[in-house]
Amino acid sequence: MKLRVALTTTDLSSLEHKQVVVSSPFGLTVQFENEKRVKTLSLNAAQQLKVSPRGEELDVVITGAGGRITASRVVVDMTKGGHSAFVNSIKRARAKGQEHAEYRGHEIDITPHRGHLRLTLVLDMEQYLKGVLESEIPSSYHIEALKAQAVAARTYALNPRISHEKDNADVCDSYLCCQYFAGHKAVGSAKHTQAIESTSGEILKYGTKAILALFSSNAGGYTSNYEDCFSDPKTNIFPPAPIPYLRAVPEKQQTSMYEPKATAKEIEKRIKESWHGQKHATFDSWSPHFKWSVHMPAQSLEAHMHHELSLLAKEPETAPFVIPPEGGQFGHIQKFEVTQRGVSGVAIELAIHTSQGQWLVKKELVIRSAFKNPELKLVRLKSAKIFFEHEHDHLGLLSSVTVRGLGWGHGVGLQQTGAQGMALLGKNYREILAHYFTNSQIHKIGS
Ligand SMILES: [Zn+2]
Repeated sequence: MKLRVALTTTDLSSLEHKQVVVSSPFGLTVQFENEKRVKTLSLNAAQQLKVSPRGEELDVVITGAGGRITASRVVVDMTKGGHSAFVNSIKRARAKGQEHAEYRGHEIDITPHRGHLRLTLVLDMEQYLKGVLESEIPSSYHIEALKAQAVAARTYALNPRISHEKDNADVCDSYLCCQYFAGHKAVGSAKHTQAIESTSGEILKYGTKAILALFSSNAGGYTSNYEDCFSDPKTNIFPPAPIPYLRAVPEKQQTSMYEPKATAKEIEKRIKESWHGQKHATFDSWSPHFKWSVHMPAQSLEAHMHHELSLLAKEPETAPFVIPPEGGQFGHIQKFEVTQRGVSGVAIELAIHTSQGQWLVKKELVIRSAFKNPELKLVRLKSAKIFFEHEHDHLGLLSSVTVRGLGWGHGVGLQQTGAQGMALLGKNYREILAHYFTNSQIHKIGS
């Protein structure tokens, strides 16, 4: 089965490239398509293909006296030689830091798109999964945890949260949107390959459809209901309709499913106990990502939070979830208060009390993003399963805030560190997947 993966820019935030540079140590065959004809050229290992947008066409330069060509579409054929290409214009994190992206597969399509370039990698599903596992989960994890991740990742590729049909692709490579696919390492891990091959073709279904196989790193002792964290991908309505197999489950052995009814205060008491270690025996509590804290001086918070909230209030996707007080001013911060929580403890609504009135911030990722603070090198909070400790000066004014949190990521669906904890307790990948995706079933693709 072949997949089309839309490749994002170095910061993983956009599909629109300014320039694309491709090369391969094995050489490449490249097709230049125009209205009526296709021209094919071969590049040697020392030559690079440099593509820039020119109106609705592509301006292509081949280095090393290869010449200049205009085309409406460029197809880099990777099948001759090593099935491998470097995209020198995209950098991806590697052990040695940022390096150019390296891909295995069949071809790379380059097309013009509104004054920019779009870049799509065509490769086999199992080859794509190797890149996802290398990017998403350490090969030091137990094989059963890796197998659970392989089945979830294969399922996700068939049914991503946001459709990429409009981009003429199945998925994109960014963890900000889909699952992370940073390309291929020169030497892949044998354990990742084993996890993919031993679950070959297996996906999760609910009824007759592939499930939405969401996953994250660590749920902080309790996974979250889908509708407590995500808005509807089509309408952006929050909360969306619940999904029957993405239910909150405690990260421990249990005999029956339950979702205790509790107030936000009672749930907060429970996550405080978890944080302080009174209730620590969960599948994921071994992980360094299980709990964390950030100390923030009030001055720094006030300097950055208003700016971040203004930006979030301007973006169409996040605007509905930032509600300023009448007058729209952001005064001195007095207090943070989580006014609504999911059963897992995840904040659904956060009130920021300021001297100019109360701001409301809703939804997991928006709440996390509101705390972006370059001064503290913070892109967002690690999770929204949070509580606050306020410190005051001798005048009774807020001097600093400590945010304490459980988990890393949205906490919905499969949890990588929890899967590892379960595997170490002797659970196999089927039991792990049944824990995280309630009532879903494993099927072979096409069955
Ligand atoms: Zn995507």
